[in-house]
Amino acid sequence: MGPPDEADSAGRPLIIPLFIPHLGCPHRCIFCNQQAITGKSTRMPSVARIQTEVNRFLKYGKKRPSTTQISFFGGSFLGLEKGSVLSLLEAAMPFVRANAVDSIRFSTRPDTVYQKTLSLLEPFPVSTVELGVQSMNNRVLDAVERGHRASDTVKAAGLIKGRGYQLGLQMMVGLPADDDAGAMETAHQMAVLQPDFVRIYPTLVLNGSPLAGRFRGGGYQPMALDACISLVKRLYLYFKARHIPVVRMGLQASDGLTRAGEYIAGPFHPAFGHLVHGEIVFDAISSTLYRMEKQPDPLIITAHPTMVSRVQGLNKKNICRWQSTFDLKKIILHQDGDMEKNHLMVANHHVALP
Ligand code: SF4
Repeated sequence: MGPPDEADSAGRPLIIPLFIPHLGCPHRCIFCNQQAITGKSTRMPSVARIQTEVNRFLKYGKKRPSTTQISFFGGSFLGLEKGSVLSLLEAAMPFVRANAVDSIRFSTRPDTVYQKTLSLLEPFPVSTVELGVQSMNNRVLDAVERGHRASDTVKAAGLIKGRGYQLGLQMMVGLPADDDAGAMETAHQMAVLQPDFVRIYPTLVLNGSPLAGRFRGGGYQPMALDACISLVKRLYLYFKARHIPVVRMGLQASDGLTRAGEYIAGPFHPAFGHLVHGEIVFDAISSTLYRMEKQPDPLIITAHPTMVSRVQGLNKKNICRWQSTFDLKKIILHQDGDMEKNHLMVANHHVALP
């Protein structure tokens, strides 16, 4: 399970990530090399270590954001022994009591969520539980040796929501035995569970994972980056149309992944989410251009300054594609700080982004 997003300036919570790599997992999914993802050891963090990490974040955080959360991720939180769950939660409590942290969140496998394990959380200010769903197709879950059923996810989501926690769901694309239609079906079944947010991760081949052996033997072919971006774009738009926020697309360029030899193959890009948003803008502007009887040349596109890089696409890819597709000599990009972020002007046509 990948790392949570960190703070941003748009009013989202400051999330202090505490890694519990591979701890609490009864076995290993074939795509998993949790050590490679987090770049940390597989030891349980000590109370002293937790306090140092949290203090480090709090010290370097700018002004106190509206919400600050401690996030345990990387392993399967509720799969840990009862004593470990309680000691991690206890380690977070001095920060809550000091009013430096508001709440606690964690990620866990669906088959660790029961009334009994959720009851352990009751005395603590836990706000959010994220489930590593990965797929809602049992055939895919079997192929990746996930060790649980889609029905475990349905049950776990119901229990989490029933207790009033925020529910996050994480899915993967490009898994063995899966395809685009399968990923869309997973998204559909996840949306039925009414999550508060989702994350979408591409399947990467990591050194030391069982999938790496399969890849080397020719038994697994990862998705190409372009195909993966196109699929994740469809998933993003699917969730967006159902008012379900997609808070992350793609893995972060953590130390572990960028360290030589850890990443072997697959659709990794450090700006994966940015590429998806660039494609969404490309589609929206292209369909506006197609609708015009004659495209003006030079073409003037006006956007909020924060949207300029999405309009251009990586290395100005979008600009080049519009120029060649519509035979335009010049495209001028105007920045207008008064424009709403998700709105553009293409010549004199207003474009609202999905
Ligand atoms: S549930 Fe699977 S992917 Fe998540 S940490 Fe455990 S083995 Fe790795």
